[in-house]
Amino acid sequence: MRVLLVEDETAIANFIAEGLEEEGFAVDVAHNGKEGQRLALDNLEEYDIMLLDWMLPGASGIEICRAVRKKNTTIPVIFLTAKDTVDDVVFGLETGANDYLRKPFAFEELLARMRVLLRSSKGEQNTFHCSDIEMDVETHRVVKAGKPVDLTQKEFALLELLLRNKGKVCRRTRIIEKVWDINFEHDTSVIDVYINFLRKKLDTPGAPSFIQTLRGVGYRVNDDA
Ligand code: CA
Repeated sequence: MRVLLVEDETAIANFIAEGLEEEGFAVDVAHNGKEGQRLALDNLEEYDIMLLDWMLPGASGIEICRAVRKKNTTIPVIFLTAKDTVDDVVFGLETGANDYLRKPFAFEELLARMRVLLRSSKGEQNTFHCSDIEMDVETHRVVKAGKPVDLTQKEFALLELLLRNKGKVCRRTRIIEKVWDINFEHDTSVIDVYINFLRKKLDTPGAPSFIQTLRGVGYRVNDDA
């Protein structure tokens, strides 16, 4: 899952970005409104959710939200705001935001609201299975043959992407867009490294891997696996 966070207060931005990365999200951070708007419009297809501060230098969160909605997208948007009068909140939601959080807020509350919006925008599914592997995105648990498996953030995000697209090819470019953030500059062979980590942790010894390699194209977890 990839998140755009637009927040000019560095401490808050870092706090949110670090928390989300620990949960397996790829996070792009913009510290002013203009940059935020540019990222939002340039990468509209890649983002799963946007977190927009209201008061920003350059362009406000409201302006960014309006620009995004003009593109006819239903991407979930949450405002982060110190403004808390009823009028302001109603106005914020009328511009097309799905939800808002008043600062200061607890990280857990932000995460819970994000999960609700992501669940409704992507259908109800937040639990996945594939042969004896089970994944629960909300509780952040992966189990193989009934036993919990520890995954790193990137491993978790990669597995989630593969299982959400079970039966379909996850192309290499798509994997990079969804699992790594905009600061990603490495060779895409990092994908193969992480696929191998997943295979080591989740394959059944002696059986074919649950992740199929499509050379030069990407990876697929098969529906009937
Ligand atoms: Ca601000």
